[in-house]
Amino acid sequence: MQDANNPRRQFLKVVSTAAAVAPVLALTVREARADAALPHQTEADPTAAALGYREDGSKVDAAKFPQHKPDQNCANCNLAQGKAGDVWLACSLFAGKAVNSKGWCAAWVKKA
Ligand code: SF4
Repeated sequence: MQDANNPRRQFLKVVSTAAAVAPVLALTVREARADAALPHQTEADPTAAALGYREDGSKVDAAKFPQHKPDQNCANCNLAQGKAGDVWLACSLFAGKAVNSKGWCAAWVKKA
C-alpha cells in the first residue's frame, strides 16, 4: 500500500501542480506588465493630433471637439484595455502605445 505522506509522492504532486499553474501565472504577469511597459502615446503623433488626443482630457480643445464631455475619458472608452485603476491603458486605436486613463480623443466610444 502507498503511503500518502511518501516524500516522492508529495514531490510529484507539487511538480504537477506547479506545471499546471505556471502557464496561467506567466500569462497573468505578462498581461499585467503589458500596459506598464508600453511606450506612452504622444499628443504630437499625427494620428493622435488629428483625433485631438490629450493625455489630460480636461485640456481638450472644446472649439475643435465640441462632442467632448467632461465625464468621457480613456478609462471609460470601449477601445481601452486594462483594469479599473490602471493609469496607463492599451488602446486598440493606437496599437503598441499606452494612453492615459484620464486622456481623451475624438474616437471615444462609451464602454459597453
Ligand atoms: Fe482614449 Fe478611447 Fe481615444 Fe483610445 S480611442 S485614446 S481609449 S478615448
